Amino acid sequence: MTEHTTVCVVGGGPAGAMLGLLLARAGVGVVVLEKHADFHRDFRGDTVHPATLQILDEIGLIDRFLELPHQKVTTIGVVQDGRRVDIADFSRLRVRYPYMAFVPQWDFLDLVATEAARYPGFRLMTRTEALDVLRDDGRVAGVRARGPEGEFDLRSTLVVAADGRHSTIRRAVGVTPRLIGRSLDVAFFRISRRDTDPDEGICVRIGNGKIFGATDRRTYWQMSYETTKGGLDRVRLAGLDAFRADLAALVPFLADRVQEVSSLDDLSLLEARIDRLDQWHQPGLLFIGDAAHAMSPVAGFGVNLAVQDAVATANLLAVPLLRDDIALVDSRLAAVRKRRRVAVALSQGLQRATQRFGIDDALNGSGQPPAPRIFEKLGPAQWLMSRVIGLGFRPEHVRTPVAGAAPIEGTTRA
Ligand SMILES: Cc1cc2nc3c(=O)[nH]c(=O)nc-3n(C[C@H](O)[C@H](O)[C@H](O)COP(=O)(O)OP(=O)(O)OC[C@H]3O[C@@H](n4cnc5c(N)ncnc54)[C@H](O)[C@@H]3O)c2cc1C
Repeated sequence: MTEHTTVCVVGGGPAGAMLGLLLARAGVGVVVLEKHADFHRDFRGDTVHPATLQILDEIGLIDRFLELPHQKVTTIGVVQDGRRVDIADFSRLRVRYPYMAFVPQWDFLDLVATEAARYPGFRLMTRTEALDVLRDDGRVAGVRARGPEGEFDLRSTLVVAADGRHSTIRRAVGVTPRLIGRSLDVAFFRISRRDTDPDEGICVRIGNGKIFGATDRRTYWQMSYETTKGGLDRVRLAGLDAFRADLAALVPFLADRVQEVSSLDDLSLLEARIDRLDQWHQPGLLFIGDAAHAMSPVAGFGVNLAVQDAVATANLLAVPLLRDDIALVDSRLAAVRKRRRVAVALSQGLQRATQRFGIDDALNGSGQPPAPRIFEKLGPAQWLMSRVIGLGFRPEHVRTPVAGAAPIEGTTRA
């Protein structure tokens, strides 16, 4: 069976879903393939940064976004030797939304996909996995995919691979990203929150060669435990009681409920790696988001960068796609990387520096990472970090045309 569309987006994460919306909103036919049945994945980045909030504002989605249950977090802190230092304070930024909003990523992606579905050119195919690319005379001309009804070909003018850090499309076309720095193991778990707990926002606690991150989700603490690659094997060897003791020592207000970690199997492990492709495109094919440049959780850059990539892609390609000008589409693919590469390289450089001068020193036991002290002594460092985390290095703005949409449910078209 063969289907046709103008753009096939592989992957319905932040990059793919946002690109699908922006292209459909511009009147371009777009199919987003998502291999899972829905957007429900635990412990995906739930951070929506000031720059992404601004984009939601620009496309008229901010009010509906803010109606979702969310929390506003204005500070990111580090506690070392019992002293807290705020390394970022978004309330210092002169922007319309000077905070980070925490929203379960599935709610955010559901909202984006629901908005996209108002445009006649948009189609989201869930439980549909891209397996390989199709080629016409060497040019990528679509994908082979497997959905609930079996395998089929989806032919398109352009394929955008937004299929994340383990990209199938990357493997299919034989490109490999360059690893930047060393990988980390990050384990996530939850602990209940009590009203008497401190108001912490996001706080990273360092001591005794351990790092615990605590994000206040109002009814629970989303906890993370960072360690070197393979470090969780050592945690397993030391056993559950040792892990609970470390947690109680570093986050004393949780000492009365460390038993909630009932087994080390409660830890959900994710590998955090930083890598990037040297070339983001081939004729008929473009990589964006983590498929082009995997981000680690440090500073929660990944979701914002993925959304910014989508905006830059739509800005550069919507018009040539509307004109069905294949030569212009192919010639603009390099421009997407050119526009985004400095922002990506600087963000990854910052993640790597944080790992080198913060995380590695902290994990090495005796080490006292110098980074928190720098923020204590240098006022502008906090402002700069707030800007860099909140807005990124090159904030994008939506410049795509707008086609007619179906009315929002519960309203009538003006
Ligand atoms: C442990 C950890 C914690 C993190 N925490 C944060 C955080 O708090 N804040 C933050 O901003 N960033 C965080 N990040 C980074 C962030 O998750 C990524 O940078 C971001 O999700 C990238 O978005 P994306 O759309 O490019 O890719 P993804 O979010 O990975 O989305 C890719 C999508 O493609 C789908 N897919 C994959 N293969 C196929 C296929 N063959 N066919 C169809 N669909 C496919 C997947 O199911 C997925 O839905 C974290 C990363 C890690 C490792």
